[in-house]
Amino acid sequence: MSGVVTFEHPTLILGKQNAISGSVFDGMLDDTTCTDRNNAELELIMRVYFYDAFDDPAITTKDPADPKKGLAKDHDGVEFNATPWEPAKLAAWTRKAVATAQKFWHGKFWLETPSTYTGLDFTINKRTYRPNVWCRFDLTATDTLAGAHFKIAVANISGPKDPTWGFQYRSNMLLYDVQDPINTKKHEVGHLLGLDHPGGNCNNAACYNSADDDVMGGGKGILPRHALPWQKAIGMITSTNKDDWKVHQSKVFPKKV
Ligand SMILES: [Zn+2]
Repeated sequence: MSGVVTFEHPTLILGKQNAISGSVFDGMLDDTTCTDRNNAELELIMRVYFYDAFDDPAITTKDPADPKKGLAKDHDGVEFNATPWEPAKLAAWTRKAVATAQKFWHGKFWLETPSTYTGLDFTINKRTYRPNVWCRFDLTATDTLAGAHFKIAVANISGPKDPTWGFQYRSNMLLYDVQDPINTKKHEVGHLLGLDHPGGNCNNAACYNSADDDVMGGGKGILPRHALPWQKAIGMITSTNKDDWKVHQSKVFPKKV
């Protein structure tokens, strides 16, 4: 089997602020890693451009009397007091957010190669093996918008404009804020990968309900259904049905065929 296959989805979504559908990434299948103990590797590659929501007039209204102050709207249009990021602080926030989400989604699934698919088979010492596919995730922050799959605004907010509201700034997959808890970053990057809430592509409270501990619901856990982006990618790369790739959450070794 020859080396590497590359494909690319549409590369950039802008103006999808309120959408809850992502599924935009590059995918690369590498079978040079295969041995009798080692599988092929499918890497989803996602590049994100994070920028200061203070500079985005669609989000932030600057105070005419003081250009270092403004009001930033959240996902629901509720206004919060905002100031510009210090570039070094935004860079540090970005590094941490990327590391958190990458660590959460990287290397968690193995897709079992269907018995009908021979395209990954390889031979060592006259023995033929069928490797499975390890699911990797490479999330990087870009310095410029060029080449990014997503553009995400990050709001440096303090409190709500009206403190009596007592609201938390509500993020979405393309709008984050300085106060986002760790879990939010994992959840929102799940959306970027194309994962929905347990109740589907909807946003009311019932949509978050799940019998399982589900990071895409109100929980923290990773579940077999979260392998969907990798299943979609392997289906496209190998021209097979994504549902034929059974999901495992621990390593499944290549088998002799
Ligand atoms: Zn969500």
